[in-house]
Amino acid sequence: MTTAASDLRYDKSHALAIQGPHACTRWVSQYVSRAMKRDLDKLYNLPKDVKFCRRCVMSNQRPRIAFDDDGVCNACRYAERKQSTIDWSIRERELIDLCDKHRRKDGRFDVIVPSSGGKDSAYVAHMLKYKYGMHPLTATWSPNVYTDIGRENFHGLIDGGLDNLLGTPNGIVNRRMVRLCLEEMGEPFQPFIYGQYWFPVKVAMQYDVPLIMIGENADIEYGGNPATETMRGFGIGDELRYFFQNRGIDHWTEQFSAQELEYYGPPNIEAAQQKKIERHFFGFYRKWVPQENFYYASQNTGFKPNPDGRSECTYSKYASLDDQFDGFHYYFMLLKFGIGRATSDAAHEVRDGHLTREEAVALVRRFDAEKPVKYFRQFLDYCRLTEQQYWDIADGWRNERLWQYSGNDWKLRAQVS
Ligand SMILES: [Zn+2]
Repeated sequence: MTTAASDLRYDKSHALAIQGPHACTRWVSQYVSRAMKRDLDKLYNLPKDVKFCRRCVMSNQRPRIAFDDDGVCNACRYAERKQSTIDWSIRERELIDLCDKHRRKDGRFDVIVPSSGGKDSAYVAHMLKYKYGMHPLTATWSPNVYTDIGRENFHGLIDGGLDNLLGTPNGIVNRRMVRLCLEEMGEPFQPFIYGQYWFPVKVAMQYDVPLIMIGENADIEYGGNPATETMRGFGIGDELRYFFQNRGIDHWTEQFSAQELEYYGPPNIEAAQQKKIERHFFGFYRKWVPQENFYYASQNTGFKPNPDGRSECTYSKYASLDDQFDGFHYYFMLLKFGIGRATSDAAHEVRDGHLTREEAVALVRRFDAEKPVKYFRQFLDYCRLTEQQYWDIADGWRNERLWQYSGNDWKLRAQVS
C-alpha cells in the first residue's frame, strides 16, 4: 500500500535512477500525487454491482458495455446478428465498392493497413491485396520491446508479399512515457496506442492515400457502445473517447517537449480532413472471427502462435504476442475492472461458438488473475521502477470495490460462475 514514507523513499531512488536531461525534480515531485488511490468508478463510470453476461463471461465492468434486461451483453447480441440477420454478401459488395472507389492503376498505394504482423491485421492486409486487388502499404507502430515471436511474425507479413513502413519511437522518450502512462493512467500501453493510432494517418497523408483499413470495432465485437454498430469506422475526434481515455497527446505537454511528442501525435487535422482520409473497419464488411483470422494468417503470412504454448494470464496461444509488455496492459485492466486477459479471450470464443460458457468459466477462473512474471524484470528495468514502486502504482489502480485482501494476497470479490 502507498504511504507517505514509501513515497519519500520512491522519490529518492527515482531521482537517482533517472539519468540525463530529464532527471528533473518536477518529474520526481509529481509521483507523489500519482501514487494516490484513484476513484475508478467515477473515472470510468462503472456500475456498482458486478454482473456477468449470461451468455459469455464478460462482466458489466467493461467500460461502455451495455447489458439488456435478460442479462446479455451487447457483444453477445451483436454476435447473434452476425450469425443470423446481417447479410454478409451485401456487406462484401459494399467493401468491393469501397475498394473500387479507391483502387489505383498507376502503381501508387491505395490503402494503408495498420499492421503488426499479428493474425488479425495480417489477415486484413493480405485479403485486401490478394482477394480484393488492392495495393496496400502496411504501417506498423513498433511494440515497446519486441518478443522474438512478434518480430518473426512481423517479418512474416513482409515475406508474405506486403510492403511496410515501421515507425519506432525514441527509446528514451518512450520509456519515460510508458512509465508516466502507467502511473497516471494505469495503462502502460498508452504511448503505443497513440502511435498505433496516428502513425498510419500520417503515412496516409505522406503517400496521399485517403483510405485506411483497420481491423474490427472492439466496442461491438467485444462489448462497448452499441450505438457504434452501424459505424463503418471511427472519424477524427472519436479516438479521444475510444482509444485515449479522453487524454490526447496534448495532455503531456508539461512533461514532454513538442519535439518529443511529435512522433506520437496527430498530423495537421485540418489537412487530414481536406484530404478526406477515411478509416474503415474491415470487420464491418467481413464477418470477424479471430480464430479464422489465425488460420488464414498461418497459411498466408506464416503467422506462428506463441512458442511457449499459452500466453501468461490466459489459455490462448495466438493473440497479442508482439510486445514483451502485453501482459502488463492486461494486468492493469484486471486491477481496474476485474476483467483479465482470459476473460477477453474466452468471451469472444464463446460468442464465436468455439467454447461453451462452462469451459470459458473454468478457463477464466484458472488463468485470469495470474500475474505476468515472464517479462517482469524487463518491464521494471524499462520503466526504471523497483518492485515496491511497481506494486505501489498497481495498488493505486486497484479497484477495491472489486478486490479484497484476504490471506496474504488480493482476491476478486466476484468471480464468474
Ligand atoms: Zn455476453
